[in-house]
Amino acid sequence: MSLVEKIYKKKFKGIPIVQESIEVPKNVPTRKILSPPKGKDGLFIQPKDSSAEREVVERHNRERFAGHFKFADPLTGAPNTYDERGDYNCGRCNQANGKECLLVDVDNLDLDAGSCGDWEVICAADPEMKLYLKSPKGAGYGVAENGKGFGCSRCPYASKAYQPDSRGRELYCGKGDFRTYGTACCVLNGAPTK
Ligand code: SF4
Ligand code: SF4
Repeated sequence: MSLVEKIYKKKFKGIPIVQESIEVPKNVPTRKILSPPKGKDGLFIQPKDSSAEREVVERHNRERFAGHFKFADPLTGAPNTYDERGDYNCGRCNQANGKECLLVDVDNLDLDAGSCGDWEVICAADPEMKLYLKSPKGAGYGVAENGKGFGCSRCPYASKAYQPDSRGRELYCGKGDFRTYGTACCVLNGAPTK
């Protein structure tokens, strides 16, 4: 018998709403809560372990960041949110329409050094819509002081990896506890902004 039972107790505007009642089996494993050591700077301390087992841990940590912080690299996260140049600047984003953004309510984009967590690769097969629905704060919009953009290579939370992983990730992210490419990025990027 299925553990999932569909119930229709609630209604919205007269329409029965589908809910699932799930009977949770007893004595099943539950998830762990991990707490790797941190340094005085509040960042995770880079382990010297470069085994295959460690790579499994890091892969999961990257996926966590993809889910919560829009992390992307060539093998993680949404493919169209990875910038192979590692700049993630508005001038090379699919949402930029001249100096306005179709998604974020910014009408004077800094095309060279502005960016946000919703950066997308320019692609003719990905039509956009005039939404203007995200606030700059909600999207994490900022203009990099460096005048060039973001990327892990410009993030103060990244340090040199003791050893690149098996895919050549050369940096270590102290916010997420994984190795990363300099061209990857996430919305937590700490590059100074104007
Ligand atoms: S604000 Fe964000 S979504 Fe808009 S153009 Fe810049 S990077 Fe793209
Ligand atoms: S190094 Fe910075 S930008 Fe890269 S994943 Fe870590 S927090 Fe995000």
